[in-house]
Parts: sequence; structure tokens; C-alpha cells
Amino acid sequence: MVHLMPLGTNDPVYLEAKKRFVAGWQHPDKTYHLEAIYYIVQDGAEAQAHLARNRAYLQAVKARVGDGAEQYLFHGTRRACHIGDDNNNLYPCNNPDCFFCSIMKCSFSLAHVGAHEMFGKGIYTSSVSSKADGYVWNWHMHSHKHTMFLSNVVTGRVEPLLVPQPNRTAPDAGFDSTEGVTKPQGGSVEYPETIVYREDAILPSVVVVYTRQHK
Ligand SMILES: [Zn+2]
Repeated sequence: MVHLMPLGTNDPVYLEAKKRFVAGWQHPDKTYHLEAIYYIVQDGAEAQAHLARNRAYLQAVKARVGDGAEQYLFHGTRRACHIGDDNNNLYPCNNPDCFFCSIMKCSFSLAHVGAHEMFGKGIYTSSVSSKADGYVWNWHMHSHKHTMFLSNVVTGRVEPLLVPQPNRTAPDAGFDSTEGVTKPQGGSVEYPETIVYREDAILPSVVVVYTRQHK
């Protein structure tokens, strides 16, 4: 079964994820303390099948656009169990209200995306960890720790979007993903976000555990 694997603080995956999380924390009014980083072990038939679909899609996009077809981006969601709180909580729960575990077990599902999101019916990610933090919730449970995903996202050719387009269900022809352009760049979002519109374009690969208290 899919589960979390603790990473040592000298592990290259830990160091890379930490670097992105720290650099991505851009909201000046919010604090964090990094607690742990876990690697998601894609164990089991369902996880292996999704991994294979994701890698095949990446290869197809790479063949068109070359290197740089993939980015590593954060995603926040609600968690209804204690997975990631410590090394005794490494396996996903079966509570359907725990979106975190649903994503871990079945990856991202477009079926769960609400209508009329800012850039349409897609899966939203950001390089800005403090932006993803805005979507992180401990749902009907108490923990001072919070968890967010760092995912492999096949972005390919990115279509910049300057204004909200809530009815969108795909990038325009010739593009593989969209990006909300920031206000300083002439767009409409405070911090950048990247949207993919197909489930095989994203693979949750790492979990960052943090508190919102600066130590
Ligand atoms: Zn759970």
C-alpha cells in the first residue's frame, strides 16, 4: 500500500524539498517551522499503475518540448487524520473526508474539483509553499502539525492566463498547462499558480510537515 517513508535531513530528496519549501514561503505575514519531510512510496497495483501513466505522459510531452517539461510544485488540501504527524502515522486512512489520504492513495481526481475555480476545472499547484498553505486544513481533528504535497507536475508548454477563466476545462491547443500570471506581470493573482487539467499530469511524490509557529 502507498505509504510515507521518513527522510533523513541529509537525504538529497529532503534537501531539495526543503530548499523549495523555504524559498517558496513568500507571504511576509505567515510563519512556519519545518518538522519533517517524507517520501511517498508508490506501493501497490493502483499506485504503480498511476505512476506508469504519469511517466508515460511525461515522456510524450518531453518528446515535444524537451527538458523542462516537468516542475515540482506544492499543493495544499484538508487532512482528517494524523498521517505525517510522526513516524507512527505513515499509512493513509480510509475516511473519504480526508482528501489528503485520497490523493495519496489515488492521486488527484478531477471529479472532486469544484465548479468555477479561478482558472477552471483543473488541479491547482504553486511554487509558493505559503500559498499552498492557505489550502491546508486539519479537518475535524487537532494537531499542531500541517502537511502539504510536493508533486511532480507535467507542465510542458505553459499557457499564461491574465484574467480569471472559470469555465476552462483544458489549456488552449498547443499547450499542456496554464499559469495564473501575477499582478506585477499584468495578471490577476498575487502569487503564481499552475494548473493541469488531466489526472496523469501530476504525481504526489513528497510530503512536507510543518507547524505555523516560528521557533
Ligand atoms: Zn487520512
